[in-house]
Amino acid sequence: MARKGGLVAGAACTMDPDQPLLSPAYVGWDGGTLVEIRPPRSGDLDADGVHDRHDALVLPGFVNVHHHVTSAGLTGVEPEAQPGLGAAPPEARRRFVAAIDQDRSRALAALGFLELARAGVTTTTDSQAAWKGDRRVDGAIEAAASSGLRVHFSAAFLDRTELIPPQQQHTPDGAVQELDRLRNLFAGDRLEIEGEPLSLPRATDDLVRALHGARHRRAAMHLTYSRAFERWADETLGRRAVEHLDHLGVLDAGWLFAHPVHLDANELRLLGQAGAGTAYCPVSNLHMGLEIPDLRPLRAAGLTLGLGLDHPNGNHDVLQNAKVATIAQRSAAGDPDAWTALDSLEALTVGGAAALGLEGRVGRLAVGYAADVVVLAGLLPPVLTVGRIAERVVMAGAREHVSDVVAEGRWLVRDGAVVGSDEDAIRRDAVAAQDALLAAAAR
Ligand SMILES: [Zn+2]
Repeated sequence: MARKGGLVAGAACTMDPDQPLLSPAYVGWDGGTLVEIRPPRSGDLDADGVHDRHDALVLPGFVNVHHHVTSAGLTGVEPEAQPGLGAAPPEARRRFVAAIDQDRSRALAALGFLELARAGVTTTTDSQAAWKGDRRVDGAIEAAASSGLRVHFSAAFLDRTELIPPQQQHTPDGAVQELDRLRNLFAGDRLEIEGEPLSLPRATDDLVRALHGARHRRAAMHLTYSRAFERWADETLGRRAVEHLDHLGVLDAGWLFAHPVHLDANELRLLGQAGAGTAYCPVSNLHMGLEIPDLRPLRAAGLTLGLGLDHPNGNHDVLQNAKVATIAQRSAAGDPDAWTALDSLEALTVGGAAALGLEGRVGRLAVGYAADVVVLAGLLPPVLTVGRIAERVVMAGAREHVSDVVAEGRWLVRDGAVVGSDEDAIRRDAVAAQDALLAAAAR
């Protein structure tokens, strides 16, 4: 069925340098692609599938570049765990995590994807650990496939830690076979599947090389998020993390690195030369007491930058995440001009798309781009400039303002209501999964 439709909006903030702002605006799509971005004409609203949002603001759909969607469905019920470097988890948490199976993983992830859509996200990553001998990853991917979102899924492999029981860790060859199985079953136009060596403290060099060799486009990995990680690299590898990847011969543009927190000048230079993407996760990082990186030298080095929710986070509000990015950068720099709201809005749209290697198709309202559209109601500033719109969206916006979400021409949210999936059933199934996991943890 042809997916033809459009919106007449009070303003469009396009993130397209050729035409950054239209007020008012008509945004039209056909077959999943944007075909018209222009001032409205009389008669636009008479066409089939064209909706009147004359008091609202339209933006490109948001891009979330780092997340653990299943884990996010556990907020508030998960037994305590500290971010570590590979030590065995406490017993209750071990039982809790071990009890995640295909059905529970699907139920929890379905809630996470639903909440992402409600927050205006049309493109997201999801990273979930692959356990040998069970199908928890299949459940998360099934939820991704039916979510309506564009998903870059990372099957995360660990072979240098006790976070996963040793008998349930894949060998490097086994990890590549498992990745092939998942791709054969699930990969498609809107669902990419990559293998992720979780992080250097949790993946051997052989596993890093194997998954680098098996990547299709851009594989994810957690970089140096803490001082403890930094010390671990120094003591165990004898060099910094990015220098170690360079030493292994795997440093290239085929990476999306989460947590560019502790990077020295040489690492920034190496990453910039490689053309790697980065995912900054301000709320989650602050939640765990991690330091605030200065993102300006990172951008100056030529790295692409997106924003990620990550876990723990507490919710899926990517606008709140962008606000925290903005104020954290200003605070760390001691300078209110160090980071603008527009810097964060770029990271949430076109920057995130570039970090995922989706530039030219995702992150802008421009002809030929994917028809990924988010409408925010109640946020139009009295003076329309791109900077003021960004300030209003990032500093005053929240997911409550998201009234409509369109992903490649398909409505996910319309007039504040979820379209095409049963929200009540998804919430009920997620709560049942949470209850079952808590019961397993208490056993
Ligand atoms: Zn993560």
